[in-house]
Amino acid sequence: MTPQYKTSDLFNDMQSWRHDFHRHPELGFEEHRTSAKVAELLTGFGVEVHAGVGGTGVVGVLRKGASNKSLALRADMDALPIEEATNLPHRSQTSGKMHACGHDGHTATLLGAAAYLAQSSDFDGTVYFFFQPAEEHGRGALAMMDDGLFERFPTDAVYGMHNMPSIPQGNFATRTGPMMACEDNFEIVIEGKGTHAAMPHMGIDPIVLGSELVLSLQSIVSRTVNPIEKAVVSVTEFITDGSRNILPSQVTIRGDVRAFDQAIQDQIKEAMNARVAGVCATQGATYTFSYSHEFVATVNTAEETERAADIAEGIVGEARVNREGGIVMGSEDFGHMLRHKPGCFFFLGNDKPGEQTIGLHSPQFDFNDELLTVGADFWVSLVESELK
Ligand SMILES: [Zn+2]
Ligand SMILES: [Zn+2]
Repeated sequence: MTPQYKTSDLFNDMQSWRHDFHRHPELGFEEHRTSAKVAELLTGFGVEVHAGVGGTGVVGVLRKGASNKSLALRADMDALPIEEATNLPHRSQTSGKMHACGHDGHTATLLGAAAYLAQSSDFDGTVYFFFQPAEEHGRGALAMMDDGLFERFPTDAVYGMHNMPSIPQGNFATRTGPMMACEDNFEIVIEGKGTHAAMPHMGIDPIVLGSELVLSLQSIVSRTVNPIEKAVVSVTEFITDGSRNILPSQVTIRGDVRAFDQAIQDQIKEAMNARVAGVCATQGATYTFSYSHEFVATVNTAEETERAADIAEGIVGEARVNREGGIVMGSEDFGHMLRHKPGCFFFLGNDKPGEQTIGLHSPQFDFNDELLTVGADFWVSLVESELK
């Protein structure tokens, strides 16, 4: 029943690498065992290896023929600080850490493609295999780029893949333009004046001001941002130093902003600052406001995305490739690479037929091994087509 893929003969290897990575999860920038294994396997395939790129990152370089065309394929290697709650034979052997985002599968899939391409003579040019650390932090792509990734490995374009629950197994979803949102974080500290709970007139109550502010922040998306645009403002923490009969002197409010466009991010930041200033002024409180950019939006370029979707159709058929799909408010640090190079990020459906969806970052999550050959075939076909 299983369709024959170009990389079918590598299925058992990819699965055993994947299960090995799954048993030994490592957090961002600590992927020492994982990157050593990646480097060792690549070397065994005959791929030139550059280790220690941006910390624990590894780059494989495979040249065939005389063409100076090139492309880069990227996989992420890090795990999450989650206690695995499965009974799988390959479950995590490290307490408090697990591959709950499927990066074990992304790494094994790209290794399978490297193994295949090293043996193949069906392309002319250079393939760079980027094995990236620390995607979950949103720091790994930048660390590799700060370490000269695109100067040392000057690729024409860059492609990335992530498995995705809620999409049927092996179906592709991608789109031209914005696909995944940015993530910004903010922190507002309101300094009031603490006092006895029975004598509020003696102080400045930062809880009342903070509560007004939380409600006011809800109107940024609905009343400041153009309704045609997409944005989210979420308050995630509200911390005070008050107690049962003591009005606090300070409130700390933290939260998270998602959007697809830098201008919208700037607009939200400005609107937030104006609301904090306005609310605090009503009672004479002071405040500090800080706003940081954690992830940039992931924005696909048109030509690369169209061609990637054509390749996907060649593997799984037109009905299983969604060219207008994949848009999510989640974030992905591959966006940093797409700011510098044309390319495409796409999702590969992870849901097994007839089974309930288990979301990314869930303690029950496991990468679907059926994607190993589909994903590796996609990488192989992309290389053979782009580097004809
Ligand atoms: Zn994740
Ligand atoms: Zn992930």
